[in-house]
Amino acid sequence: MISDTIKSLDERSDRGIRGVTILGSTGSIGVNTLDVLTRHPGRFRVLALTANTQVERLFDQCRQYLPQKAVMLDANAATRLKDKIQRAGIEVEVLSGTEGLNTVATYPRAHIVVAAIVGAAGLLPTLAAVRAGKRVLLANKEPLVMSGRIFVEEAHASGAELLPVDSEHNAIFQSMPAGYRTGDVPAGVRRIFLTCSGGPFRATSAEALVSVSPEQACAHPNWVMGRKISVDSATLMNKGLELIEACWLFGMTPDQVEIVIHPQSVIHSLVEYVDGSVLAQLGNPDMRTPIAHALAWPERIESGVKSLNLFELARLDFESPDLKRFPCLQLAYDAARAGGTMPVILNAANEVAVQAFLDRRIGFTDIPRVIEHTLTLLPASQDTQLGTVLSDDVRARETASRFISSRESRMGQGVT
Ligand code: NAD
Ligand code: MG
Repeated sequence: MISDTIKSLDERSDRGIRGVTILGSTGSIGVNTLDVLTRHPGRFRVLALTANTQVERLFDQCRQYLPQKAVMLDANAATRLKDKIQRAGIEVEVLSGTEGLNTVATYPRAHIVVAAIVGAAGLLPTLAAVRAGKRVLLANKEPLVMSGRIFVEEAHASGAELLPVDSEHNAIFQSMPAGYRTGDVPAGVRRIFLTCSGGPFRATSAEALVSVSPEQACAHPNWVMGRKISVDSATLMNKGLELIEACWLFGMTPDQVEIVIHPQSVIHSLVEYVDGSVLAQLGNPDMRTPIAHALAWPERIESGVKSLNLFELARLDFESPDLKRFPCLQLAYDAARAGGTMPVILNAANEVAVQAFLDRRIGFTDIPRVIEHTLTLLPASQDTQLGTVLSDDVRARETASRFISSRESRMGQGVT
């Protein structure tokens, strides 16, 4: 019976319903993606869902969406999920580990793979989806920062469609010339403007930044996001990572990307053409807009996002970023200009530092110190093959972790 049902669902998929794998379905992007998919049952079908350790959340999603496969990175968590699924009497195959992630990233029935894992952990499964020629919705920016060249080259070789979901990059993609393919140098484009809300500490003094807490850093004024990207938004490293992401996705040099603080987060980014035209994409700050755009592209579908009210909004403000108070942005610009594996080292040190801040082992203003120390100590390589990228990632994590531990032992305890 079940196999008959699956067969008929497969036939539906052949008749135009697009199968979707979500890597990182229990996170903020994953949940927003499921919200959009639920609005279009005749168009998309959830085939596979994945999570790190959140058994309860993934179980609830399995019950609601009945995917064919569910993956827990953690093997113990996978066993617990399997038990719960068996007891509930639902038919979902449970896999685990990086092998499980690769299986669902390359699942032949999946047309679309949503890359919504946080951090470098998403690199290999997302790359596997690209190599398998999928439509890949890219939210997970760290892999692009680490190895954007590989992603673009592999996508062009396999025919995969790389569609940015990061709101700024999605806005840029929407403002590109007709027929534009991700990774190509766009004809007639002079530069791009990457907008930035400024984060929760836009108006906080340098002195006060020293003692801000993880809770304050995660309270973003305009967006509700996972904890890691929330801290990145507070240090402005998020914009630094996005600068590097934009260079790879849109064939730009770092000097062609201008970062503009725009506190309302309504203009999601802009593209300037050589004739002086500037095209922008606007909308309420809600990730369901870029997700729906990339799911249905080049068509348009409902996302559940409410209409923009220009009269309520009344004004749009712009200012330049303060690189002194937010040194992470300067470090990212420097790494982008240096190229090679410098962005890999920047990203790895940042991931380690942000986790240490969330664990209250270091203070907010220690984050750029850890990154700068790691960038200064480790020589970057100009070789950006995957093997070098992965080994520099490991070296940078070790160096950053050692620096944090040595600071802790010097200070006797973590900073609170
Ligand atoms: P999140 O922390 O809310 O969710 C992360 C997801 O990845 C969860 O499902 C978690 O179980 C899974 N995960 C975590 N570590 C893992 C590991 N080691 N291996 C496998 N799976 C793992 O994060 P988020 O806010 O949804 O962000 C996801 C990605 O999208 C990030 O790279 C972020 O920069 C990017 N992004 C997020 C937003 C946003 O609004 N949240 C906007 C733009 C870009
Ligand atoms: Mg963004």
